[in-house]
Amino acid sequence: MDLETLAKNLKWRGIELKVFATKEEAADYLTQAIKGKRVGFGGSMTLEAMGLYEKLKPANEMFWHWRQDMPADEAKAKAYLADIYITSLNGVAETGELVNIDGSGNRVAATLTKHEKVYFVIGENKLAPDLHAAIDRARNIASPLNAKRLHRKTPCAVKADHCYDCKSTERICRSLNIIWEKPMQVGACELVLIRETLGY
Ligand code: SF4
Repeated sequence: MDLETLAKNLKWRGIELKVFATKEEAADYLTQAIKGKRVGFGGSMTLEAMGLYEKLKPANEMFWHWRQDMPADEAKAKAYLADIYITSLNGVAETGELVNIDGSGNRVAATLTKHEKVYFVIGENKLAPDLHAAIDRARNIASPLNAKRLHRKTPCAVKADHCYDCKSTERICRSLNIIWEKPMQVGACELVLIRETLGY
């Protein structure tokens, strides 16, 4: 992956790139950058591994349905309306497209609606050479691993080897979103890339 090419391709799409060697450095950067805000989180093993919720909480009002601070549906609704939204991605193309697959849709929907800023935080394992490869990664690597993590009764959850395009009622893949450019209602959009393997 050529990070200069990625940065250039993100820039014309209205998305800034920041690169950090470790999740601790990225968490320090975000903790300094976000203060006094209402902050919503999407479900993300990357954010969990960073301990970012706990790091931001002292200086911000936080909404995350993975924490017990309020009912999950209330947390999702408040995150949707927050000043800042932070989540991860299932695939990022060197050509600049951002790819996410979602089940309940809260994470994808919140990245498209009105916020001062949306941060996407990813490990370098999410990078792919082009849009086709980023979608392929989201469908055949990220989603089966997430289905396995969630103990879903889907064919992919057995070996997490690839997507079977299942018809299961427990299917977690209900929508596929590609961000071609910064959504119009989002004030600013930033990709925080960590040079580690994080999340799925
Ligand atoms: S569509 Fe079904 S088989 Fe494919 S990754 Fe999603 S849950 Fe697994």
